[in-house]
Amino acid sequence: MRIEKTEEFRRATCCVIGCGPAGAMLGLMLAREGVDVLVLEKHADFLRDFRGDTLHPSTMEVMDELGLADGLLDLKHTKASKIEARLPGGTVTVADLGRLKTRYPYITFMPQWDFLDYVTGEAKRYPNFRLEMEAEAKELILEDGTVRGVRYETPDGLREARALLTVAAAGRSSPFREQAGLKMVRTSPPIDVLWFRLSRREGDPEDTFGYAGGGRFMVVINRGEYWQIAYVIRKGEYESVREAGLDAFRRSVGETIPDLADRTGELQDWEDVKLLSVQADRLRRWHRPGLLCIGDAAHAMSPVGGVGINLAIADAVAAANILAGPLGEGRVRTRDLMTVQLRRELPTRAIQAFQSVAQRRVISSALGPDGAPSIPAPARMLLGLRPVRDLPARIIAFGIWPEHVRRREPSARTGQAPAAREESVR
Ligand SMILES: Cc1cc2nc3c(=O)[nH]c(=O)nc-3n(C[C@H](O)[C@H](O)[C@H](O)COP(=O)(O)OP(=O)(O)OC[C@H]3O[C@@H](n4cnc5c(N)ncnc54)[C@H](O)[C@@H]3O)c2cc1C
Repeated sequence: MRIEKTEEFRRATCCVIGCGPAGAMLGLMLAREGVDVLVLEKHADFLRDFRGDTLHPSTMEVMDELGLADGLLDLKHTKASKIEARLPGGTVTVADLGRLKTRYPYITFMPQWDFLDYVTGEAKRYPNFRLEMEAEAKELILEDGTVRGVRYETPDGLREARALLTVAAAGRSSPFREQAGLKMVRTSPPIDVLWFRLSRREGDPEDTFGYAGGGRFMVVINRGEYWQIAYVIRKGEYESVREAGLDAFRRSVGETIPDLADRTGELQDWEDVKLLSVQADRLRRWHRPGLLCIGDAAHAMSPVGGVGINLAIADAVAAANILAGPLGEGRVRTRDLMTVQLRRELPTRAIQAFQSVAQRRVISSALGPDGAPSIPAPARMLLGLRPVRDLPARIIAFGIWPEHVRRREPSARTGQAPAAREESVR
């Protein structure tokens, strides 16, 4: 796409495209460091269903370090300290976060829109933070091989934002990777997920469970007034599930989760069931001069383990820690951008490898007519050993390399934009 006419201009030290978990947290943290930041979000609000809603201990510790954990936990949420699988032979604890040494030994379930409203509300306290809603970035501004900002569309016309650094945090379908010529490594997860809700009623269990048996695998998440259910299917199987009809689908849900069999009639239409085509990929290089990709825009994650938000936030924390100084000085070098990738790439690849094993060896083996979930024998043996027993909980809670908020220099504490200076990108 080529935009010929731009009606208005904006200038910022850093322009962030996308106000999901990665973009919102980066915007907040840079603003807090005194960087002049403009965040563009294409939607008018954050109200989108069936997004990642799981805040893990790594994210809660970051919120704590920002002094925002208590305020966040004042919002409506539920907690789960154990992830359990209900198998035909009994219940198995997959991960017990309650044994971990942290102030937040649980997964916090909170609608993503509440989390984003809260984070952006806090960011707006800083005069150097600007958020434009209904602002859809369309085209990177490339000059002499360097990204100088982005052209974007608003209800009032086309605008242009010029920035020392543009950060693409626009999620898994981000077109800016291709526009910037960044190459992708794609993997082919063997599963897709169907998401739907069923009501929660008095006397229902409190916990979040995985259910497996009879060739099916489902995850049931307690969302207060309703259960959010992930029904895992083999990749490409969606059409045949639909052809079998809604009655057969309801029956299979009831047979796998007998506790909810009395309400599967709430699924009235296929409109009530959303397909998530599971995607997993990562960029070879996350940056080029003037541009950095973070979160799903740099690496789309499979939903296994519910780590996507947390990894996206860890990227934002690392980027803010590493780049706030150079941005404040008006000079971001390629090596600064490379440092962000170096720091985050290994944890991302390790988690993707872990998800790939879980998808192929555990979940796929549970699907199909004779499917029975199985944990590979060597893994079963290792998981029996005390030091290894807590490993799944640790990986889910903290990932491979948790990020922490770097302490601010006193000069940055006002949250004011630094004085205007000559800016250069090398
Ligand atoms: C159905 C589903 C269930 C999931 N479940 C979980 C889970 O339980 N736990 C978990 O941790 N993760 C889960 N994930 C993954 C998780 O949602 C993502 O990994 C995470 O949201 C990534 O954050 P992000 O900020 O990088 O990108 P996103 O959350 O995708 O945010 C990108 C933002 O950019 C905006 N945007 C896009 N294009 C433009 C543009 N051109 N201009 C301006 N704005 C733009 C979008 O509107 C969006 O607000 C799930 C994902 C899906 C789809």
